[in-house]
Amino acid sequence: MKQHPEICPRCESNGPEALSHSPVEGAWTVFHCPTCFFTWRSTEPDFITDPKKYNPNFKFSPADMANFGVMPAIPELKTKG
Ligand SMILES: [Zn+2]
Repeated sequence: MKQHPEICPRCESNGPEALSHSPVEGAWTVFHCPTCFFTWRSTEPDFITDPKKYNPNFKFSPADMANFGVMPAIPELKTKG
């Protein structure tokens, strides 16, 4: 079984947490990043679990999160008259 990760594969923040454990002890663990909310299972391929191999096009820093758009976009309020 893989060790508890030091950093999040996506945003590289410290402190991923164990979110869930397999019913059969030691088969897998689901980890969760409290910073960017990325969630991954320990048995996923290394391009998901390893920060060095995670697709750089999908990575971001926690500072970038302040500039994320709202999805779906909220339309302007309609006004009468
Ligand atoms: Zn993260």
